[in-house]
Amino acid sequence: MARVGLQPARARRPRIREAMKFPLTQQLIDEAKQFELRSACRHCFYFDAANDRCRHDWPDEGQRRWPLDAKDSDGNLPTEVAFCKEFELK
Ligand code: SF4
Repeated sequence: MARVGLQPARARRPRIREAMKFPLTQQLIDEAKQFELRSACRHCFYFDAANDRCRHDWPDEGQRRWPLDAKDSDGNLPTEVAFCKEFELK
């Protein structure tokens, strides 16, 4: 028997688009280097490098930054790091 019109509560929730953000600590920087973390768009299967865009049209909320401790355009060190929930290592 097929279900009609019923979805689990989880499927009805609105999609949360914000990147996950965490404080950028020295421990995170050290462990990212130690374990060769890859988390930026440039490492992601969904990144279209030729057009410098996400194939899923996610905005850049900081998840493109690489390395994690790369300076901001104003020369300041970032205080947080953003991770995308749809990241797929390529
Ligand atoms: S899915 Fe996320 S990590 Fe991958 S390219 Fe798009 S924004 Fe970047």
